[in-house]
Amino acid sequence: MWFGVVTLFPEMFDLSERGGLMGGVIGRAVESGLIEVELFNPRDFTSDRHRTVDDRPYGGGPGMVMMVEPLTQAVHQARNKAPADTRVVLMSPQGEVFRQSTAVSVGAQGGVILVCGRYEGLDERFIRSEVDAEWSVGDFVVSGGELPALMVIDAVARHVPGVLGNRQSIFDESHLDGTLDYPHYTRPENTGDSGGQVPDILLSGNHPEITAHRRREALWRTFQRRPEMLTRRLFSSADRKLLMQCFEQEAEDAKKQDN
Ligand code: SAH
Repeated sequence: MWFGVVTLFPEMFDLSERGGLMGGVIGRAVESGLIEVELFNPRDFTSDRHRTVDDRPYGGGPGMVMMVEPLTQAVHQARNKAPADTRVVLMSPQGEVFRQSTAVSVGAQGGVILVCGRYEGLDERFIRSEVDAEWSVGDFVVSGGELPALMVIDAVARHVPGVLGNRQSIFDESHLDGTLDYPHYTRPENTGDSGGQVPDILLSGNHPEITAHRRREALWRTFQRRPEMLTRRLFSSADRKLLMQCFEQEAEDAKKQDN
């Protein structure tokens, strides 16, 4: 998978394991060539002595605006190097919220060019003529598109075959199938405080029951924390049964507390 990144701060993208920014799975994927990140700096496409990339906004007001020309040339060079089927995406708090489903669909494409804004933003005419989509990482504003772009690269890279050692872990993760992940436990079996015992079922070795238990926990957790996620899906009959068990358990626990 190829990522082109248009940024005034290329030094923020040392993705090698040594760089320490990504480490772990993503760092290894970069080093083994499973994912490739190429950087394009608009400053390299200026002709004046000061290598100017921004200017004051027409109409007045605070801050600076990124100029059309250096951005356009940087994007054109990125397009020249990009595989076929590559879209240009602007990181922007005004964009559509980036979701797990977006990550999956991008992972299936040849590449993506991520444009990182700075200052007050970019000249609207550049956005109109060069940008295919805008993605936001959430309803808040950060100072530049670099951290959002790094989040997108990480989330997309996880879907590139070979990046995660165990492909199964993608399927269990939060959001992929419209539910949150189930709770995880590792040694010791008991931490000694109340509620410190790992659920017996996980120690039973009974894998069909463990799978059902985890699914029930995932559904229940989603219902409690993000109920709106469940309203957008059709339930299999197995899921419906598991959720009913949760409601029955809750009713029973409530009765116990009353007594
Ligand atoms: N004045 C702009 C914000 C500029 S912040 C506005 O209110 O819309 C500078 C840059 O940071 C943006 O151009 C964008 O590239 C990036 N950025 C800020 N918040 C972001 C978010 N939530 N998601 C993605 N990119 C963001």
